[in-house]
Amino acid sequence: MFRHLRLKLTVLYAGLFCIALAFIAAGAFAVVNGNSERMVREQLKTTGIVFDRVWQLRFQRLEDSATLSSSDYGFRQAVATADAATLASALSNLRERLDADVVFLVAPEGLVYSPRGLESAPASDQLHAALETEEAPTGVLMIGGALHQAVSAPIYAPNLLGWVIVAERLDAAEMRALERLSAIPLNASAMVRASNGAWVSSEGAAETDTQIDTFIDRTLRAGQGDPDLLAGADGPAMALVKPFRSLDGTASVLMLRYPMALALAPYRALFSTLLAIGIIALCLLVIATWLLARGITQPISTLEEAARRLQAGEHVPVKVRSRDEIARLAESFNAMAAAIQLRERKITQLAFHDSETRLPNRAALERRLVAMLKQPRGFVVVAIGIDRFAHMRGAIGYAHASSFLQQLGVRLTQLAPNAPMARLSNDVLAVALLADNDSEALRRVQGLLANLEQSLRIDEQVVDVNVTIGVAAPEGKAASPGDVIEHASIALDQARAARAKIAFFDKAAYGDPTRNLSLMGDMHRAMDNGEIGLFYQLKMDFRSNTIESAEALVRWRHPRRGMISPDLFVPMAEETGHVRALTEWVLARAVEEQGMLADAGFPLAISVNISGRLVGDRDFAHAALAAVKGARHDLCFEITETAVIDNPEIALENIELFARHGIKIAIDDYGSGLSSLSYLKQMPAHELKIDKVFVQSLVHSQRDALLVRSTIELAHGLGMRVTAEGVETPTTFALLASMGCDMAQGYFVARPAAVGDVIIALGDARRAEAAERAGKASA
Ligand code: C2E
Ligand code: CA
Ligand code: CA
Repeated sequence: MFRHLRLKLTVLYAGLFCIALAFIAAGAFAVVNGNSERMVREQLKTTGIVFDRVWQLRFQRLEDSATLSSSDYGFRQAVATADAATLASALSNLRERLDADVVFLVAPEGLVYSPRGLESAPASDQLHAALETEEAPTGVLMIGGALHQAVSAPIYAPNLLGWVIVAERLDAAEMRALERLSAIPLNASAMVRASNGAWVSSEGAAETDTQIDTFIDRTLRAGQGDPDLLAGADGPAMALVKPFRSLDGTASVLMLRYPMALALAPYRALFSTLLAIGIIALCLLVIATWLLARGITQPISTLEEAARRLQAGEHVPVKVRSRDEIARLAESFNAMAAAIQLRERKITQLAFHDSETRLPNRAALERRLVAMLKQPRGFVVVAIGIDRFAHMRGAIGYAHASSFLQQLGVRLTQLAPNAPMARLSNDVLAVALLADNDSEALRRVQGLLANLEQSLRIDEQVVDVNVTIGVAAPEGKAASPGDVIEHASIALDQARAARAKIAFFDKAAYGDPTRNLSLMGDMHRAMDNGEIGLFYQLKMDFRSNTIESAEALVRWRHPRRGMISPDLFVPMAEETGHVRALTEWVLARAVEEQGMLADAGFPLAISVNISGRLVGDRDFAHAALAAVKGARHDLCFEITETAVIDNPEIALENIELFARHGIKIAIDDYGSGLSSLSYLKQMPAHELKIDKVFVQSLVHSQRDALLVRSTIELAHGLGMRVTAEGVETPTTFALLASMGCDMAQGYFVARPAAVGDVIIALGDARRAEAAERAGKASA
């Protein structure tokens, strides 16, 4: 809810203070209210008593005057005459003398005589009844719609002549006089019940208030009431109701009211003062809390900011002013930040340096190259490979080899000051040299090479320095440092492969490794869906002129790339570890198709090429033996000599295992590599295949002819049959035949073809031969 501690604290304290203030105010109000209520009640009660007294006094006065008149002789005479005019003037005189509002006479039979004469209406039954039953009753009377206080006195002369009634109006002035008698400014009013049951003021004001009605009714029902709270239309008031005794049955009361607002008025100042104090205190509290909270939160905010900066890798110590917990927290924070900084420096040192030689590493070089790529000048990365490093390390030891590298690194920094350098791998150092074009780069690299290849002195021993160098320039400014370094490393490999001292990165020669990788993914699918298949190239026996064997050659018809040469994808499968699956597939297929050939009447020995990598693999050897178990005729494994050189013991073991299981062994591509006599001697081979390079130059080169001839003799001497590969012309074929070669393989004999085509071709040849034989026989 609150994003800031400061606001939260302020609101919390202000809220608590307000609640406390509200309780105090409520308590004070309750006490004051209760007190003033009690006080008003008392006052009202007292006023009620005073009123009773006044009321009695007024009756007393009226009674006195009524009695006086009744005993007045003249008046009695006037009544006795029963003459209306006389009576009227007597009554009028009496009213003037008594200074009364109303004076009239009620005759015994109930007729009323007023100063104006005989009234048409008789006195009300109730009044008449009261006069007859009581001795001089008193009470209130409704006369002409106005409430009056009335007394009566009988007139005897000596018989009862009637009753004289003296009444005085209960008007507003009377009420105000009554109000003045009270110690408190109350409101007095005489109320009369109207014909509809509502209570109205006797002064005629149409004041109808249902709450007043129910209040009066309730008090009347309860008998003589005490003052009580009345929730009137104009606020609560303390009210006292006193019923009047009525002579004519009119229900009327005196109502004394005192509004509570008036009672509380003296305290209003107190409440206002309290409120003002409260508001001022609240303001002070808010300001104080705000300041206090800021005092707490500001250091926290500073710490938070510092932590954020620390996260972003910036180290800003937090300034500590106070001596409290927050200050100690800040101190700890600073200590922590310093420790992190130290560790970071160590990690950076570790991350960007080679721990063995303490030379910068590849990551450090990449970092520097990022900056160089942004500059306008061109540069090249030079990968310096130490020749035969592993051998040298074996000879001088690891420690000395490390110090050799380190010294070479130092020499490199001296030769190219300020140029970023690094140890890229075990035996490769790298340096980035400024150069705007290849010729400038070559000149600088040549200069570097001459100075770098000075022998070093390690532990009093002189060690020669021989290096090979690969150079690569970034391909545009958008190149990544990683790419340039990689290209320089590839250039180094390319230099070594070409046995050159310096080579620039040759993109075309390198190809597209990512594309090739996806090709390997395709290869497995291709073996299942028939894109990969086998072609067979037939071999002809020189002496018998018959076809007894064929070599299986793998073919891949890729749906998008077209025909892919085995010279491309077989080495790739070797590099990426997919060649075993491929070879096992070829073996199984060759065995299957050998059966098809046999079924068609051509039982051929099939030669299968076994990749060099696999010859030294024991697991493969057993898998291969299992795969060829069902072969219907001879199988031959063609193996190049490089295979044996890589892993001689296991390779020879496997070759012997194959031979023991009846598989013939052919030495493939003989003469293309560095063939050695000892190798020939070790191999339990049945066949030697002379590489097509020799065979094709046979007719032009005397030397090659000599070599081929002696190789054939040598192989025969070792008990091997000899196949010549790449026989394309009849001349070559004839020459080889004259040299005693055993078999010919090449386009002159047959081009490689699918098994179906081979069966057709062999069938055609057999029919032609049969026809020839038949022709000869008939001739
Ligand atoms: P290789 O074992 O020396 O196979 C002979 C290659 O020479 C074949 O090329 C064949 O088409 C070609 N050739 C045959 N006669 C002539 C000719 O008269 N003149 C010329 N110029 N060339 C001729 P291909 O099929 O392209 O195979 C290339 C290489 O791929 C093979 O050389 C072999 O080393 C490898 N290879 C082919 N199939 C397999 C296989 O199933 N497994 C393995 N591991 N390697 C294979
Ligand atoms: Ca071969
Ligand atoms: Ca070959």
